[in-house]
Amino acid sequence: MSTESHDETAVPADAATAVKTHPLATAPVAGPPTSVDGFVKEFLRELNFGQGVTLAQSTVNDQYLALARTVRHYLMARWLETSRRQFEQQTKGVAYLSAEYLLGRQLGNALLATDLTEVVEDGLRSLGIDLATLRSQEVEPGLGNGGLGRLAACFIDSLATMGVPCIGYGIRYEYGIFRQTFVDDQQVEQPDGWLALGAPWEFPHPEQAQLIGFGGHTETYDDEGVTRTRWVPAWDVKALPYNYMVPGYLNGRVNTLRLWRAVATDAFDLKIFNAGDFEEAVRSQTFAENISKVLYPEDSTPQGKELRLQQQYFFVAASIKNFVYDVLPEGFDLHELPERIIFQLNDTHPVIGVPELMRVLVDEKKMDWDEAWAITKQCFAYTCHTLLPEALEVWSVDLLGRLLPRHLEIIYRINDEFLAEVREKFGDDELRIRRMSIIQEYPARAVRMAYLATVAGAKVNGVAELHSQLLREKVLPDFDEFYPGKFTNVTNGVTPRRFLRLANPALSELITETIGVGWITDLERLRELEPYAEDEEFRARFAAIKAHNKRRANAVLLERDGFTVPDDHMVDVMVKRLHEYKRQLLKVLHIVTLYDRIVSGEVAAADVTPRTFIFGAKAAAGYAMAKRIIHLINAVGSTVNADPRVEGRLKVLFPPNYNVTLAEKVIPAADLSEQISLAGKEASGTGNMKFALNGALTIGTDDGANVEIRELVGDENFFLFGMSEPEVQALQDAGYRPSAFYESDPTLRRAIDLIASGAFSGGDRSTFEPVVSNLLHQDRFMVLADFASYIAEQDRVDVAYGDQEQWTRSAILNVARTGFFSSDRSMVDYIDRIWHTPPVR
Ligand SMILES: *Cc1c(COP(=O)(O)O)cnc(C)c1O
Repeated sequence: MSTESHDETAVPADAATAVKTHPLATAPVAGPPTSVDGFVKEFLRELNFGQGVTLAQSTVNDQYLALARTVRHYLMARWLETSRRQFEQQTKGVAYLSAEYLLGRQLGNALLATDLTEVVEDGLRSLGIDLATLRSQEVEPGLGNGGLGRLAACFIDSLATMGVPCIGYGIRYEYGIFRQTFVDDQQVEQPDGWLALGAPWEFPHPEQAQLIGFGGHTETYDDEGVTRTRWVPAWDVKALPYNYMVPGYLNGRVNTLRLWRAVATDAFDLKIFNAGDFEEAVRSQTFAENISKVLYPEDSTPQGKELRLQQQYFFVAASIKNFVYDVLPEGFDLHELPERIIFQLNDTHPVIGVPELMRVLVDEKKMDWDEAWAITKQCFAYTCHTLLPEALEVWSVDLLGRLLPRHLEIIYRINDEFLAEVREKFGDDELRIRRMSIIQEYPARAVRMAYLATVAGAKVNGVAELHSQLLREKVLPDFDEFYPGKFTNVTNGVTPRRFLRLANPALSELITETIGVGWITDLERLRELEPYAEDEEFRARFAAIKAHNKRRANAVLLERDGFTVPDDHMVDVMVKRLHEYKRQLLKVLHIVTLYDRIVSGEVAAADVTPRTFIFGAKAAAGYAMAKRIIHLINAVGSTVNADPRVEGRLKVLFPPNYNVTLAEKVIPAADLSEQISLAGKEASGTGNMKFALNGALTIGTDDGANVEIRELVGDENFFLFGMSEPEVQALQDAGYRPSAFYESDPTLRRAIDLIASGAFSGGDRSTFEPVVSNLLHQDRFMVLADFASYIAEQDRVDVAYGDQEQWTRSAILNVARTGFFSSDRSMVDYIDRIWHTPPVR
């Protein structure tokens, strides 16, 4: 009898051995034939046997689900083969730990990765089904808030395409980011039941569930003369993995994204059931399952809620357990862990993984503390995503100690040893010690997760050059001094597959026709387009594609919201989360200024460049000011759109529920990309990159990755305005008084007065009073200070747009020169500077 089957499952040992030794056990799994006929057969099988309906009976949803499952068949052989090889080779890989993955729709990307789009289109057509209809049936998994979650999705796409072993780990939220609707111009949040119509892309593996403990206490015991600690949790939940395919582009690779779902443990239930308390059993079940119930809709403003910490520990502990106990082969020497894996921390959300790995190594694997710490320090790297002090996550010692008592002990010891090292290097500089302590004392004792990540991380990176510089100089300067060489930069990127090839098929075709297909996996090759900026025929085709994309966006917005985008308008787009630092208010003040110029008669309507402004933005449900700003944008839109004096000149559209699906339609239609955050506040931005790659010109501040975009495309192809970061700092230090700008700038005064007068709120002056008064008396993000510069630059935009040939030239150069912003390049930088995980054949 085999010795390796002792802990398998319920299958009898000899039967399990028979299964493993059967000739078919190791035979490669083949995908179905890729002919149109082969596809049709496979699709009908799924429809009949998977979905349980005939073609005649089937609904669009049946057809979509059957199609998704059919496409999975084509990916399956690659997935199994990728997993098998990675297990055999045991080379170093990445475990990307992220609380968010904003994936977008899966079907189009899966078809692209397998080159099946045409086969499927033809096959479905032969059955009288339109592929586009089925594609729009898919509900995107909105398991992220915005840029941070989308970045994770772009990164795992790139790693799969480059053949780098990676497991993405996260949470399978039952409800993702809320669905936004507007009622009376105000945001109303609806639950996002993305699973309601079926989830054809996921593979649950309940048999691989992990038990995750919470609460309780720690105790010490004698282990053959060594005093050890064990944690005795008070309650636990089961973490069930759901696997998702992450297909590489046309390379036969499929990596895995593993998202965890929380369910109550049987033992917990059973005890209470047996005690006869049915209600309590159900309550405990609900309590456990709350953990993966809903994504916190806060972006950049953590709330310190207990459930959030539960979520964080839940998915990180499940992932580390999964990796250490299931992914690694039996008998793996954990001293070699750093040669086998790097856990990349996407912001501070997964940082609790640091004490968790220490706990596993020291308490469970009985490793010596120093040895375990030496290993742990090499196994983590940390990406910081912010510069806003309020966005740096802290957990109160009370809460952490109650929920994770052993982890708090471990954090204290890490901190003690770290501060001892600091003393050794810098002497007893108490101020410095207090500044650098992982434990913050005021206003309440709390664990600074970014500090813990910095102490534990082999590397710490910012997400754009400017951000990484400010991170070292302003956010973590003591740490930069203490750890020379630890800080590095990796500028963000976006996947060219989704954001150019899929989102902009017309431009993609023109590019491929002009320079070949290589750009899809080597985006720097877009450089070869540069000479075509001078080619009149190419420019005409490029401009025609932009016009085509505007009509396409128009069709989508008409269908979804009843909006129309006039053919002859400049399309001016600001889509991103609603946050004061991103300054949607500055955009509103520009629109109000243009409106005021026309209605006051200062400028003839006929002399104003026609523009359609498109906004997309969700506000965190609890972020009152952000919601007021949404209200204001809608109110200004309602007034402007209904006023015959500006008809045909100004139009404001705010389609609700901005998400990846909408981004894919709106961005390719844009002429002008609004990237207008206050300098020093936007870490990178990735929306800015998507726009430039799709041939929009940017109006932007010297902030985040805007700096690098401008350097690459050239000053003459970028509309720069506003204060630089040092100027912001200087104004701050001098004592910023927004009212001074209001008083001295008549244009600004008129715009603000118009809002204050109730012109956009049916005469009610109180509606937007909080917005106005915040601008005049606080204006944390210096909207008023940058207003004049913004308006002046927008006037230059109008002039520039008047010369369409020149505009198109600039747009082409934006595409040709921004190949740097491929997430493939970001991955190369991570691999070179942080991970050292080369691609595997
Ligand atoms: C790219 C993207 C973002 C990030 O946009 P920024 O302008 O960088 O803030 C947010 N949401 C969605 C849906 C995106 O696709």
